[in-house]
Parts: sequence; structure tokens; C-alpha cells
Amino acid sequence: MSDRIIIRNGTVVTMNDTSDVLFDGAITVEGDRITDVGSTADVLARQGADGARVLDATDKAVLPGLVDLHYHTALGKGWSDHLPLWEYLEACWYPIIRALDYEAAYWAALASYGESIKCGVTTVNDMYRQLGALADAAAEIGIRAVLSNDVADPEHNLDSLEDNREAFQAKHGTADGRVQVYVGIEWLPLASEELLRDARVLADELGTGIHIHLNESLTEVENSRQRFGRRPTEVAYDAGILGRNCIAAHCVWLSDTEIALMRQTGTQISHNPTSNAKLGNGIARLPEMLAAGINVGVGHDAAECNNSRDLFEVMKFASLMHRASRVDASLQQPPDVLAMATRNGARALGHQTGQLVPGRKADVILVDLKSQMFTPLMPENSRHLFSHLVFAANGSCVDTTIIDGKIVMENRHLTTVDEQKVLREANAAFLRVIDQVGGAP
Ligand SMILES: [Zn+2]
Repeated sequence: MSDRIIIRNGTVVTMNDTSDVLFDGAITVEGDRITDVGSTADVLARQGADGARVLDATDKAVLPGLVDLHYHTALGKGWSDHLPLWEYLEACWYPIIRALDYEAAYWAALASYGESIKCGVTTVNDMYRQLGALADAAAEIGIRAVLSNDVADPEHNLDSLEDNREAFQAKHGTADGRVQVYVGIEWLPLASEELLRDARVLADELGTGIHIHLNESLTEVENSRQRFGRRPTEVAYDAGILGRNCIAAHCVWLSDTEIALMRQTGTQISHNPTSNAKLGNGIARLPEMLAAGINVGVGHDAAECNNSRDLFEVMKFASLMHRASRVDASLQQPPDVLAMATRNGARALGHQTGQLVPGRKADVILVDLKSQMFTPLMPENSRHLFSHLVFAANGSCVDTTIIDGKIVMENRHLTTVDEQKVLREANAAFLRVIDQVGGAP
């Protein structure tokens, strides 16, 4: 495969600082970087096409790859998912992830990342176990992955900070820098304040970030009040967890004080509206978070609590839930929602992705506009296009996915793995682990 790619004759949705949309636009990629963006005529005049792989994007939109800011590799989607969060965690999620071995995690990760790539996701912020298997799967399939362990106090029999340290030492910076390792904290109900303080010390020592579930449910808030005498974000703040390199997932029931702490510490928030809805956890105060100036991205959470990894669907929820609950159709307009799924997510992770701008990493997707989803479409009307991308499209509109300058899906076919084999093996791994944990709860 050529190291040089020219994508021409497309509608280039840059998501840059001025939200430029270029009709009959082109971009060039060399190695892992975007090197030029402009009109097709200008880019071809400047760059020439010699030796380049040319992708014709006629009737296609060219966008930055999507960033799934809160993610778990999933093994058991749809399995006993009639239960509310706490019961589900105890009856299904923890027994399954306690039984995980390298093999099961590897195939589950390949199946999960494969579905994400097919929905236009180029970066996952994945908290799970068996990070060696996840890193190997990410390296193989070609996705950009920030991995963190499921760290909890020892009596819960999940991961320890030492496991996370070892994963960092073994895998951080591998796959040409596509794989990074953060320190993960499962959530406050399974953590002591000492563990939280130690997690921050470890993250600072390693020079890496923190990924934590925070303030996801009313039961979590109540648990925090009883155990610590404070709300979850106050506990996290006191332990030093919050900060610019901390991704706090959910943040559904934030008080005004908690929003102020998020703002003051520059903490990044992953908004996961589909998961929050499915698990009956509520509706996050997204308008207030954004008004406070907090950087908010979006995540699907896990296929167990979504049940899809389609970030287009998450974008739609990220607008519609707030409009419905506030009785206000002016909220979460499509360009702002698309920004959460691209540039905000990239910024949260400190990545040079999320925008089609020269010098940025080449994580790019091509969306097929010749479908019912994008019909009708007013020519050269970006507002109409943004509306379709957020309200009408689903992940099957993504035709091509490029990550770090490599084409990992083309014409909806994954180029780096045998997709049918991955699905077979992921299914077999699920059956094996379910058998090990004794079947349905
Ligand atoms: Zn989660």
C-alpha cells in the first residue's frame, strides 16, 4: 500500500476552528499525517498525484474519524441485559470480566474494534482487562486505542494498580504510538480514597492520564454519600483524580458544585446518553456542562449497555435526549454534536486528530452520500449535510476508514483482519466464558 493518499472531489467537512466545509475538496495524506487540505484543483496543483493512491470521493463526505471517548471492549452484548446497572454489574459484567483470559479478550476486542471501524470510529478510549490482548488486537486491526485497566480494591478481584503499571510498561506507545495506556478506575463504589490517591500518584509517575466512571447513577451518588460523606466528584477532587488528563465518564447527576470542580480542574467529560438511557441512569446536564466551558466528548460505553457501537446513533441521542427533557429544540445543534464526536474527543485525549487540518494525524473517514439517509441533499449546503450526519445517518454510511494514514476499511470491508473469522472466534469466546461463569443469572 502506498504511503501517500489523495482523496479528491469530495465534500470535506474539516471540523477546523472555523468549521470550514469544502465542496469539491481534497486532502492529501503522507505517512501518518494530513499534508494538504483545499479545493481539488488547488491541492492537485500543489501536490500532484505521482505515486499516490487516489481515492475518488465524488458523492462522498470526507470527515475526521470519530472518537469514542468512553468504551469497553464487549464480550457479552445482549446477555441478561434486562437488569438495572448495579444488579447487571454484579450478575453479569463482573463475573464475565473476572473469567476473561487473553484469548477471549483478544477476540472480543477484535470484534468490538471491527464494529467501531465500520461505524467510522478511529479512536477508542477502552477500559477493560487483559490489556496485552487489547493492545495486540488494536495493533493488528489498526485502530487508535487508549487502554486502561478495571482497577478496584483487592476484595473485588478485578485489576490492581500494579496490573495497570505492568500494562503501561509493556504496551504504552506501541503500534507506532497508536496504543497508549492510561490508569483506569472502575468506579467509586469499588474504590477506597487511598486507592484513588494512589491512582493519581501512579498516573503522574508514568506521565499518563486517568479514565474513571464518575457519577453515573443515583445509587452511586447515594453510595458515595454514605461511605465518604460527599458526592462522587467531591471525593475524586479531594483525591487528586480530576485534571486535564482525566476522562470522567457519564457525570449524569452533577450538582452545581461538581460542575464547578470539573471546570476548575479542566477535567474532560465523556457524555454517554444511549447507555444512560438504556440503563435507566438519567439524563446528564449537558447544556450546563457546555455553558461552564467544560470539554465534552461522546462515548457509546459498552455494547452490553448500548447495545450498538454506532457513534452516529450516540450523536443523535446526544441531541434528542436534551431537547426532549428540556422541551427545547434549540439545544445541541448538529455541528456542535459532531464536534463532540470529533475534535472535542481528540482534545480530551490530547491527540492530534479530530480535525482535517495539515499536520494533524491522518484519521479520516469517507461517508457515502448516495443513499436514502442523505436524500434529499441540497448541493453545497453544509447545514443540510450536518443535519443528515447527526439526525439521519447511521454507521453503515461509512464507506472507508483511514487510521494513522492506513486504509483499515474500504468499501465496507476490513482490510487488516478476516472479519468472518473474528466473528466466529468472538462468538466461541463468549460461549466459553459464559459456560465458565455458570450460564444465565
Ligand atoms: Zn463504562
